[in-house]
Amino acid sequence: MKDIVCKLLVIGAGPGGYVCAIRAGQLGIDTVIVEARKPGGTCLNVGCIPSKALIHAADEFDAARRLLDGRSPLGIKVDGVTIDLAGTMAWKDGIVGRLTSGVSALLQKASVKVVHGRATFRDGKTVAVETETGMQIIRAENLVIATGSEPVELPNLPFGGKVISSTDALNLQVLPKKLVVVGGGYIGLELGMAFSKMGSEVAIVEAAGQILPQYDAELVRPVAKKLKERAVALHMLAKAQGLSADGSSLVIETADGSREQLPADQILVTVGRRPTISGAGLEELDLDRSGPYLRIDDRCRTSMRGIYAIGDVTGEPMLAHRAMAQGEMVAEIIAGRKRSWDKRCIPAVCFTDPEIVIAGLSPDEARAQGYEIRVGQFPFSANARAMTMQSEDGFVRVVARADTNLVLGLQAVGRGVSELSATFSLAIEMCARLEDIAGTIHAHPTRSEAVQEAALKALGQALHL
Ligand SMILES: Cc1cc2nc3c(=O)[nH]c(=O)nc-3n(C[C@H](O)[C@H](O)[C@H](O)COP(=O)(O)OP(=O)(O)OC[C@H]3O[C@@H](n4cnc5c(N)ncnc54)[C@H](O)[C@@H]3O)c2cc1C
Repeated sequence: MKDIVCKLLVIGAGPGGYVCAIRAGQLGIDTVIVEARKPGGTCLNVGCIPSKALIHAADEFDAARRLLDGRSPLGIKVDGVTIDLAGTMAWKDGIVGRLTSGVSALLQKASVKVVHGRATFRDGKTVAVETETGMQIIRAENLVIATGSEPVELPNLPFGGKVISSTDALNLQVLPKKLVVVGGGYIGLELGMAFSKMGSEVAIVEAAGQILPQYDAELVRPVAKKLKERAVALHMLAKAQGLSADGSSLVIETADGSREQLPADQILVTVGRRPTISGAGLEELDLDRSGPYLRIDDRCRTSMRGIYAIGDVTGEPMLAHRAMAQGEMVAEIIAGRKRSWDKRCIPAVCFTDPEIVIAGLSPDEARAQGYEIRVGQFPFSANARAMTMQSEDGFVRVVARADTNLVLGLQAVGRGVSELSATFSLAIEMCARLEDIAGTIHAHPTRSEAVQEAALKALGQALHL
């Protein structure tokens, strides 16, 4: 097979890699992208998209089931409702298929050459790809490592049999009667809640003292309340020890040091993700690391000239939109444009019920950085649109510098607040002050009015509280 020579080679077609390749193609850079599995990476195939499809299906089923007992204040009655998980999964697969073929079409439109197969570095400029038709050598002036991440396995609870990863959970064809989730981070909680809504009996085992440890306790409270209402068992400060001798249960060590057995049809382990570094010959390149991740500078350059790294392989926050932003920036840098990482915030959304969104600094983080702050918080129980949607739990919170009113952070918990994330990031990126948000007309009746009211509250001028 004839060697390919190009200006840019991207390894991995997840959100980081495919965005980088598309932008590079648009800028006229001769670009090749290599992907071992399917375009779209973790996000489109086994992450963001299938999980949100499943969450939506679970929400629809749960909403219909809640009407069954005839106690709906809305006057709606239904006679019966069932869920066919295999049908739900087939619908989800259809969405994934549409999006992954969309990525392939966009790469083609940008004149990017796609090579299917696993890439292994030969040296800093050369990669060998095992394709279906043989070994393909690719030589490139610039390389972008966008190999992403994979689920972490617990040594005492290896994947296999009833012990599953998030990837397996997103492909279950039969609803587990009893599901135990090990790890109460956002992936475990999103999936755990979805399965609870579809009818599984769910228990969550978390080693920390709080579910969703990366969010502050105030934001997490409405989610914990909902889990309690749904009878989801929470085992905090508990550690998974392994399967029981007969394989029927998960053995845990509880907070007081005693042992307990949790019967389970399926045990979903979501204790984190690790960068995909081994297997691609990256160890031999000896690139500098930052903990387990590849170390990068503010232009996503690694320690070797001409080699960039983007996305999950470079560390936290492991989010698709961070990977995409890095990919777009790197393509422009390779095209000769002056760019560096200058983002003021990377929003993060937890698609639980209710949803949580954070952007910028929380009150505690702002104080820890030495800021004197003012905080405004507005509850959805005082918001008209939230009342009409039966979603009064939660609030919007704004954190600003006390001296200048510059907005440092915005957070919210409540139904559908993921859609506020754009407003939050825009305000922070554009260096909004409290007066900018308070002085912007927000359409009525919308839940976004709570953002304006939170800013008014921080200024001591709340109108609807
Ligand atoms: C269940 C779940 C839900 C999630 N939900 C969200 C969410 O709601 N929002 C959000 O922002 N993020 C979410 N994420 C995280 C998100 O999926 C990742 O942050 C994102 O996919 C990272 O993009 P990436 O391009 O760095 O890597 P990836 O998407 O992991 O893509 C890397 C690609 O590289 C390929 N590859 C690896 N090694 C090689 C090699 N040697 N040769 C060729 N190809 C190779 C892989 O096959 C893969 O396709 C979720 C993740 C999971 C697991």
